[in-house]
Amino acid sequence: MNNSETDWITVYIGLGSNLANPSEQIKSARTAITHTLGVRELAFSSLYHSPPMGPQDQPDYVNAVICVATELPPMDLLRCLQGIENDQGRVRKDQRWGARTLDLDVLIYGDRIIDLPDLIVPHTGLAERAFVLYPLYEIAPQLLVPGKGHIADLTAKCPMNGLRRLD
Ligand code: ATP
Ligand code: CA
Ligand code: CA
Repeated sequence: MNNSETDWITVYIGLGSNLANPSEQIKSARTAITHTLGVRELAFSSLYHSPPMGPQDQPDYVNAVICVATELPPMDLLRCLQGIENDQGRVRKDQRWGARTLDLDVLIYGDRIIDLPDLIVPHTGLAERAFVLYPLYEIAPQLLVPGKGHIADLTAKCPMNGLRRLD
């Protein structure tokens, strides 16, 4: 009997870009994610526009959140996402939170709390970042963020910090 359907986990991934036509970068990344073997799209948020976090001498960001079902284990999923970042021209620099063509973060992986050297889930910045919370709330208003609380409460406590939804 094939019971693999029961092993698919619901995962939320944050997308961000502020170089080389950010909206198109986000759309291409959505396509790449949903074409990944072992990944299926369940929902995709609106695109949002947000001022940069950290260094201010860089363009504004376009952000979104995608919800997928996946049968990939967490580290395999992270490696796939890093492959997509590289395919879209991501160059890793020393400066933290600098400009990039594409950033893909694993925000939530089912109800798992993961604390590995290369993967912390739920994502460390999730509860403080408007550009993560608002798109998450848009596609999953009932979500319980493991170890952090209800998405509605987290969003209500977080100022929008210049975030705006694009049409
Ligand atoms: P931030 O993680 O604060 O949003 P960033 O996205 O700019 O910053 P990156 O340079 O993209 O940081 O990633 C640095 C490292 O973070 C990656 O090499 C990866 O191993 C690690 N990492 C830890 N947890 C996660 C996660 N949940 N999703 C993606 N990467 C993660
Ligand atoms: Ca990030
Ligand atoms: Ca990242």
